[in-house]
Amino acid sequence: MAQPLFLKPVMHEKIWGGNRLAQEYGYAIPSDHTGECWAISAHPNGVSVIKSGPYKGLGLDDLYQKQPELFGNPSTDVFPLLTKILDANDWLSVQVHPDDTYAMIHEGELGKTECWYILSAEEGAEIIYGHQAKSREALADMIRSGDWEHLLTRVPVKAGDFYFVPSGTIHAIGKGIMILETQQSSDTTYRVYDFDRKDADGNLRELHLSQSIDVAHIGQPQNSTPVTLKIDGMTSTLLVSNAFFAVYHWKVTRSVTMQQTAPYLLVSVIDGQGHLTVDNGVFCIRKGDHFILPNTVRNWRFDGPVEMIVSHVGER
Ligand code: ZN
Repeated sequence: MAQPLFLKPVMHEKIWGGNRLAQEYGYAIPSDHTGECWAISAHPNGVSVIKSGPYKGLGLDDLYQKQPELFGNPSTDVFPLLTKILDANDWLSVQVHPDDTYAMIHEGELGKTECWYILSAEEGAEIIYGHQAKSREALADMIRSGDWEHLLTRVPVKAGDFYFVPSGTIHAIGKGIMILETQQSSDTTYRVYDFDRKDADGNLRELHLSQSIDVAHIGQPQNSTPVTLKIDGMTSTLLVSNAFFAVYHWKVTRSVTMQQTAPYLLVSVIDGQGHLTVDNGVFCIRKGDHFILPNTVRNWRFDGPVEMIVSHVGER
């Protein structure tokens, strides 16, 4: 019988992390500086494990290799996406990620295009989204002289906002924000500025200025334009669609039957509590759950009220 694949997330402590992954989402966290929940991940730095069913105990990386039919027999051997929830109790570093070509040459892994659905934001919360330098020379000068005030573009955010952050975008998530991030499966970050903060041992975190200047795009990033479709029982908003991923916000108010049109879907429940019915199996789903609807699941029903962020691989 085809089944959804429920996943156990991996928590990562960060100097900017907090305790809201426990308070808001009910996860077991290692400390009050927990910054990242790697919810759906096959990246070697934090692999999710299947929680139940016939593949219980297997890592998502292993499952992707051993049971390719669950993923529509993909042509790549690396699971391409990574879903995280972040708790920014303080500013993350100002950073930039390389594209696939640069990352493969210099880091031996995928580049990182990412996007953020803002789950919650304190009054006055801001992100950094792009920069004001008009040329690579000006960017290098402003970075090397630390002219952050004039360089970085600050944008106020609120719950429900969405930002597309292609590789090459200088960015930072601000204090008091929780996001659900959908990204390429990569852990390469070039730090531009870290607010001169010291870690628990009194050390500054490493910066990567020359790589950052190499990979940064010049010009403001172009955010996506979400498109909303109302059908009986649910509202579906396509947040972004590109070569790497498509990401949706699904709000199921009553009951909806759906069919698989992608190779497989990554699903994160961000609010509410309801049921997922696949064949004759009924699964309770609630805020904080993460699962994959594999290729073998051809149709299913959701009963709400439940709110989800859903993604699938892009078409290259
Ligand atoms: Zn980033």
